[in-house]
Amino acid sequence: MSAALEIDQVVKEYAGEPPVRALDSVSLTVEQGEMVGIVGPSGSGKSTLLHIIGTLDRPSSGTVRLAGVDTSDMSDRHLSAVRSQLLGFVFQQFFLLDGMSALDNVANGLLYRGVPQTARRAAAREALVRVGLEHSLDHVHKKLCGGERERVAIARAIVNHPAIMLADEPTGNLDSKSGHSVMELINELHAEGHT
Ligand code: ADP
Ligand code: MG
Repeated sequence: MSAALEIDQVVKEYAGEPPVRALDSVSLTVEQGEMVGIVGPSGSGKSTLLHIIGTLDRPSSGTVRLAGVDTSDMSDRHLSAVRSQLLGFVFQQFFLLDGMSALDNVANGLLYRGVPQTARRAAAREALVRVGLEHSLDHVHKKLCGGERERVAIARAIVNHPAIMLADEPTGNLDSKSGHSVMELINELHAEGHT
């Protein structure tokens, strides 16, 4: 079985005067079913690494393999297809729409996969129940508290049953109690087999 994720000697340099070398030859392998935390001070390159692992950005040099497949030579179109099949993201900024219900915010995560609306809503409902928001399906996003919003973001990340879930500081904006319960949820998802 190939590793879920393999990056080899990844360098990322941002242009500028002087240029910033955010990643300096990083190699990392994550096996299927593993749970890995990346820890470091602000500015140490964590978000950059997640973006490159998630194929949202390309490395200056080095390779990124997802489920054994080298992504270096893929077109953007091919990459976005691979991304929508393999990856679920919980971004640092929520990227959810305030005026929309929790259900629609999660269902919209499936728009780009060509899933029909009824199936999208059914899958979204299942994901929201999974993260403990069965009572907030129709609640407008703006009215949810921080911990609930983070759960909506996690539901959106798992709605298509991705091979790998990536989360950028998922507890960063939460008080310690909500942060703890979000970490519990992430641990449960890991126990269920998510990488
Ligand atoms: P972290 O997530 O650990 O706080 P980042 O990956 O956001 O770190 O940033 C790593 C370094 O790269 C920082 O010095 C940051 O200023 C720089 N950086 C991040 N994104 C960009 C960008 N788009 N353009 C230029 N520099 C960037
Ligand atoms: Mg960051």
